[in-house]
Amino acid sequence: MLTILLSILLLITNHQEFNKKGDIMKFELVKLPYETSALAPVISKQTIELHHGKHLQTYVNNLNNLIIGTKFENEDLETIVKKSDGGIFNNSGQVLNHNLYFTQFSPKGGGKPSGKLADAIDATWGSFENFQKEFEAAGVGLFGSGWVWLAKDKDGKLSITKEQNAGNPVTKDLTPILGFDVWEHSYYLDYQNRRADHLKELWKIVDWKAVDKRY
Ligand code: MN
Repeated sequence: MLTILLSILLLITNHQEFNKKGDIMKFELVKLPYETSALAPVISKQTIELHHGKHLQTYVNNLNNLIIGTKFENEDLETIVKKSDGGIFNNSGQVLNHNLYFTQFSPKGGGKPSGKLADAIDATWGSFENFQKEFEAAGVGLFGSGWVWLAKDKDGKLSITKEQNAGNPVTKDLTPILGFDVWEHSYYLDYQNRRADHLKELWKIVDWKAVDKRY
């Protein structure tokens, strides 16, 4: 029994990461709810490994180091995104964005939303297909790097918002429901310049059960 406990303890301590100050890192890399190869061919294993393991890990590390000694040191992620600017905003925004992004997909995804979210989408855009068209158009129309979001306000009213760079709808007092990353790092290896094709393919892996819960 003691041996098992010690092994577990060793496993935990080996997996802890430390910031430049030597403290245990406050924010951690979100765990993928699927294997890195599970979303292929919509998103390849290589893209997931780089996007999650390298790009997101860098945002997490940067954020943990940047908040040391600031008023954000003990704040939660969403508060930091809402109240910060500059480097802290860029890195906290990207951590929040990617936490939402990577947990909204499933190899068994696709199909349509259900329940209240489905009703709200129909009421706002007429049909799920119309919503998809507008969402894709917003993503294609965003110049440079950024995100397209489905978001809701305090009354549950839905909207599509475009955000440059690290932007997230929480800065507009909206709740993010679904987010497509249109930074080239999210699709360039698999689709090169064909952002529109990539966005169209993403619907096949959207985990509507996870997305419905956010609404
Ligand atoms: Mn990204």
